[in-house]
Amino acid sequence: MSADASIMDDSYYEPLEPDEELIAAYDAEMKGEREAYEKYQKALAEWQAKWPNACKKCSGWGGHAYKYDPSPAGVSLSAGYMTDFDPCEAPDCISEGNCPRCGKPTLSTIPGVCEEGQGPCKECGWNYNDGEPQW
Ligand SMILES: [Zn+2]
Ligand SMILES: [Zn+2]
Repeated sequence: MSADASIMDDSYYEPLEPDEELIAAYDAEMKGEREAYEKYQKALAEWQAKWPNACKKCSGWGGHAYKYDPSPAGVSLSAGYMTDFDPCEAPDCISEGNCPRCGKPTLSTIPGVCEEGQGPCKECGWNYNDGEPQW
């Protein structure tokens, strides 16, 4: 044994003990994720089979709803968000009074008040919250 042996002392590089609890928790999380995803895929397939005429552009949602915080930066008025809705721009969709889900011209439009069709759909009951399942 040479004098350099102490440099090779690997007690400095203490191997990490595998944390069984952490691994189990991670596995459970991954399993939950996978199950949730499988459930989503199933719901999506069922939805698409049920609504073959749904608008491809907006996935049956009729547009895109989003939230935004109207407070100016640095000013916290209240924990509130405004919801805005961009109607789908597809030519045969909500802007023509067609239902984005069943594709039938069943939505009412009110000239001068709103250009896009208003739910609920007289045919399938669609009303702004019945789009394709989202992941
Ligand atoms: Zn659309
Ligand atoms: Zn409809």
